[in-house]
Formats: sequence, structure tokens, C-alpha cells
Amino acid sequence: TGNRGLIAELIRDVPDFPKPGIVFKDITPLLARPSGLAAAVTELVADSPRDIDLVVGMEARGFIFGAPIALALGAGFVPVRKPGKLPGETVSETFALEYGSETLSVHADAIAPGSRVLIVDDILATGGTIAATAKLLNSLGADLVHVAVLLEIAGLGGRERLAEQGLADFSAVI
Ligand code: IMP
Repeated sequence: TGNRGLIAELIRDVPDFPKPGIVFKDITPLLARPSGLAAAVTELVADSPRDIDLVVGMEARGFIFGAPIALALGAGFVPVRKPGKLPGETVSETFALEYGSETLSVHADAIAPGSRVLIVDDILATGGTIAATAKLLNSLGADLVHVAVLLEIAGLGGRERLAEQGLADFSAVI
């Protein structure tokens, strides 16, 4: 559609960021263009089921898309954050990155067991971030209904990793 073409045009490839040999997908031109931001939110909502209780977004770019999608779906929003940011009791999950590791946390009381949850992020690469988030949410008894991302970087095994985690209901806008 026109929306999807516009979104693809407004995501910029930045070579050698953050390290030599990596081509970084930069969504800031998309965010800065009113029609681009609207197209991204519209298509993410179109890809998502209707009967969602909570949208979960990961720091930081999952917040940008997660909140407007939650509003559009009549759902609440729950942030998954890097360590030391959430004031209440948390559960955490540590996972491997290409170099080093990352930890993600969520408030232990953020998700009532059985809540119908939608995970939203900007980009799926290896799937490590979403897989770790899914583990956190499963440990709290969430019903993970769908995973929606704006952009899937193919060839990094992300989609397969989500399927291994039982997250078969996945969509990427582009
Ligand atoms: P994954 O965990 O390898 O799937 O990486 C996905 C996470 O890293 C998401 O939260 C993205 O925001 C971020 N990410 C990975 N690659 C890129 C990129 O090329 N541009 C922007 N963000 C990226």
C-alpha cells in the first residue's frame, strides 16, 4: 500500500553504526514526518488483533509506537525497561547480545494473569529482545496474543526465534 511504501522510504540506512560492518536502520526521519508517523501507527494497528488488554513496549523505541497503538486499541500500556528504572518490585530477564548482554525488567504487578497482551517494537533483528520480553510476560501469566513490529530485518533468524518461543502470531509492517 501507499503507507508501506512511505514507511520504507522514510527509514534511513546508516552504514557502520554503531560498529563497523553494521547497517543501522534509522527510524528518526519517519518519526519526524507527520504522515510517516501516522502511517506507521495506522499499519501497526491494522496488523494487530482488536481484543487486547495491554500493549507492552520495550525501552526505548517500543514506547514511541506502543502508546499510540494502546490508545487506538483501547488498551493500557506497560513499559519493559532497562535495569534500575522501575521503582516497584520487578522481574528481570538477561539475554546475550552480539557483544555482552542486556537485562530487561517489568513491574511484577503490571500484568494480571490471563491478560491479553500485544508486544510492540520498532525492529525485529535477532529476536533476542522480544524473546526475553516474552519470557518475562509468560512468567507473569500473560496471554501473549500477538507480536507486531514495524520492520523485520530478514536473515538474522528473528522470526524463527519467535516461533521457537511459541510466538507464532507475528506481523511486520515492512
Ligand atoms: P534483536 O533483539 O536482535 O531482535 O534487536 C531488536 C532490538 O534492537 C530492537 O529493540 C531495536 O530497537 C534494536 N535494533 C536492532 N537493530 C536495529 C537497527 O538496525 N536500527 C534500530 N534499532 C535496531
